[in-house]
Amino acid sequence: MKILHITPEIAPWSKAGGLGDATSALAKNLAALGHEVRVATPLYGSVPGREQMGTVLDSLKVDVGGDPAKAACRVRSVDLAPTAQVWFIEHDDYYGAREIYPAREDTAERAAFFGRAALDACLQLGWIPDVIHCHDWTTGLIPVLLNTTLKSSPLGRCATVLSIHNLQHQGLLSRRILPFLRLPEWLFKPEELECLGGVNFLKGGIRHANRIITVSATYAQEILTPAFGFGLQDVVLRRQAHLDGILNGVDLDEWDAQKDKHLAKNFSAQDLAGKRACKLDLQKQFKLTDDSQAPLVGVISRLWDQKGLDLAVQALPKFLRAGRLQFVLLGSGDSWLEQEFRRLADNFPGRVGIRIGYDQALSHRIEAGCDFFLMPSRFEPCGLNQMYSMAYGTLPIVRATGGLADTVQHWNSTTHQGTGIVFQHADVGAVEWAIEQALALYARPADFVSAQKQAMREEFSWRKSAQAHVASYEKALEQR
Ligand code: ADP
Repeated sequence: MKILHITPEIAPWSKAGGLGDATSALAKNLAALGHEVRVATPLYGSVPGREQMGTVLDSLKVDVGGDPAKAACRVRSVDLAPTAQVWFIEHDDYYGAREIYPAREDTAERAAFFGRAALDACLQLGWIPDVIHCHDWTTGLIPVLLNTTLKSSPLGRCATVLSIHNLQHQGLLSRRILPFLRLPEWLFKPEELECLGGVNFLKGGIRHANRIITVSATYAQEILTPAFGFGLQDVVLRRQAHLDGILNGVDLDEWDAQKDKHLAKNFSAQDLAGKRACKLDLQKQFKLTDDSQAPLVGVISRLWDQKGLDLAVQALPKFLRAGRLQFVLLGSGDSWLEQEFRRLADNFPGRVGIRIGYDQALSHRIEAGCDFFLMPSRFEPCGLNQMYSMAYGTLPIVRATGGLADTVQHWNSTTHQGTGIVFQHADVGAVEWAIEQALALYARPADFVSAQKQAMREEFSWRKSAQAHVASYEKALEQR
């Protein structure tokens, strides 16, 4: 198949969260299965190495409304795999700044432009994909465009697939986007794109894509309900027959404890000795005391309401005061929560280490050096860190939601089976309960090591995920 992905993020060039990891690994694995893959994405100011990139199209006229002087771009390229290429849409007015999602007045145009440019690049090059796979809200109007304005173009026969990586972010923006994308005005009604007086990008994609994918089986069920649907549950419900839940995977080129270059020492399920060195390295980096009695609990996360870390910051002091655990966190987000975690570090020197910011190398060292990894998410479409943690013998403590529920098995002290600690409710008491369970497990070294080895043996393969995506593409092709 010829497959075009359209995405605002692709690692390692651009990544704000799991989406960047997912598109990169999916594209590589689809190529490994023999498909021809192109990934269209903006060339942000922060993308390294633009001088070394090839040029696919030096000047591409993009069919959008608005200022004609802003309607052209360049398309640069980098090979991701022998049959996979990334097309970077270069347009400095829209994407020259470093941020992926800046707050700007032209957010709608900026979100819509690169997708439309990708379609125009296909038309200009005569490269007509079988499947166009759109990712998250910024690309939501592409299936609408292909179903209306571009229906009779050579792209009108492409099957369209929309992946929802997080339903909370929908792109509710001004209706001026309709003439910009040359979409018909009749789409501005509640049964179509209209929502609270604006155009809802994601709603458009959900309505018009031939197939919808979300990133875990449990999340595919959750988004049908008011608690997780963020107002779009009825729109999703109407498309339920065309909805697939497909788990992301672990990119072993990036996350392999036996080969990871960021670690003080490598290790494996057969020989965990190196993990001790990783813990010491992490304790040293964060100036924590070398306390081997207490487990080290880690977090790497965006500090947003979704992640439930406000619950963690309330639950932790009790355990820290009693000297029962150590804690490290890497992340950034809501400033009040950053402040709360900084305060935690001030209150418990030698037991808490906080790094506000984004640091890829440190994220690997935290995954390797911790004993437990905490994810008390209110919702979690897939979650990647719990899978990285398991691959590194770091037991996840997770709330039973979305992909967390689908990947972590609660430790059962009767059967001695399990890969982590799973709790049900998004409240402080439940987080405290889960931490107590983790401490009890850590206090039984044989059980703890058994759980670590079971976790490390879990396989979250991108190959399997890519195969499931292909099956979904085939259904989309039938339905187009
Ligand atoms: P989300 O996409 O909701 O942020 P995921 O768990 O799916 O959550 O993916 C988050 C990804 O971003 C993981 O690869 C994680 O390691 C990475 N990440 C998040 N915050 C940071 C940070 N501060 N530094 C380094 N990596 C981070």
